[in-house]
Amino acid sequence: MNKEKLVELAERLAIPLPKEMPSLESYDEIHFNFSGGKDSIALALLMIYGYKVSKHKVKLCHFRVDGNDEQPAYFDYPETDEYLRYCADHEAFNLPLVVISSPKGLKERIEDRGKFPSAQTQFCTSYQKRDVYAKWVRSLGPGNYLCLSGERSEESSRRSKNLAKATFRVYSAANAPTKNRFVDWYRPIHHLTVNEVWKLMEYAGIEPHPCYTEYNVSRCSCKFCIFLSPNEMKANAEKFPEQFKDLVEMEKRLGHTMKFEKGKPITLEEYIARASTNENQLTFDFFEKPCVDW
Ligand code: SF4
Repeated sequence: MNKEKLVELAERLAIPLPKEMPSLESYDEIHFNFSGGKDSIALALLMIYGYKVSKHKVKLCHFRVDGNDEQPAYFDYPETDEYLRYCADHEAFNLPLVVISSPKGLKERIEDRGKFPSAQTQFCTSYQKRDVYAKWVRSLGPGNYLCLSGERSEESSRRSKNLAKATFRVYSAANAPTKNRFVDWYRPIHHLTVNEVWKLMEYAGIEPHPCYTEYNVSRCSCKFCIFLSPNEMKANAEKFPEQFKDLVEMEKRLGHTMKFEKGKPITLEEYIARASTNENQLTFDFFEKPCVDW
């Protein structure tokens, strides 16, 4: 780790916090939403080395989409559990890691509902992440809690518009003033470029999650995320053929496809057949939308 360069960059990127936001010192606990993706790592580095958040207040919080760790990785990458421990124990962090999950994994949730999540009905995020976090914070009892998540304006026009409206707000899914539980939500890396994100990681000496190097996806999302491009979906279909076959079977069984093009269903096999050109990929309405805004 090059601590001098890391601190210099993180301090430069630590812009003033929103005026309406209480001071960082006023929170009892600060929860970093930690997927293991590059943005979640940049968030943690910025807060520790730029804003000098006291480490004893911090928890790295990961939401395991497939349910608890007794359930095999299906939407999660198989390397994620180990990678999270590597990050938590890394000399740049040495932070407690909390892995929380819904009793039902995403696959079971899809089977129950008889349909896949979509951009319009993103129940994967709401059930497997937002509700899981809200329930966990409620279990902590009274206190002042701050949840931080790593969205960046540069990622998409939709995200940029959302972030332009507000980067800070009360986290209403878990906030309960009558129970003396106050939960806020802030998005501290909204202004970072992807270059700055990678630089922070480089100076910290943190290796990227294997999804970037082994699977060549642009985001550390679910490995069969509803927002993957045809190229990314095809690459993961080839890396995980049994699970992809299973998803194809699931589409047939449920009579519902994961993907739609201009309102018409398109099967996963048809979708990955579009992987040949960039032009084809851009015809999908929701290609721009990452896992969002829980
Ligand atoms: S990464 Fe994609 S599939 Fe997974 S929870 Fe987020 S939007 Fe849903």
